[in-house]
Amino acid sequence: MVNPPRTIKEARKIRYGKSGLNPSGVPYREGYCAQEVGEPGRAIRFYQCQRKAVVGLFCRQHDPAAVAKREKERTARWRQEQANSPHARADRYRKALERIARMYDASMMVETALDALRRR
Ligand SMILES: [Zn+2]
Repeated sequence: MVNPPRTIKEARKIRYGKSGLNPSGVPYREGYCAQEVGEPGRAIRFYQCQRKAVVGLFCRQHDPAAVAKREKERTARWRQEQANSPHARADRYRKALERIARMYDASMMVETALDALRRR
């Protein structure tokens, strides 16, 4: 289900589990979570979530706010893992070395200039 229903009216229009064998699908079951879920098998079979609707039209797992929160947490965790990855650490180390090299170059230029002044 790409866009979960936002209203009971939208939910009532849903037909769950449409397939070649059941082209008209199954209607929305009132009081139950409106999320369409897939059961993997030889071919994924879709049906309406069988849990009771407790957060608006959804169960706790499929509550769009909870889904968004979990997605946000997953993204934050992924970013954290990326920042701590050997590759990211090596990249930070390389950048630090480049900064040091630039500072060294700058100090060499200053020394060369001071040498030139001293030799005058
Ligand atoms: Zn559900």
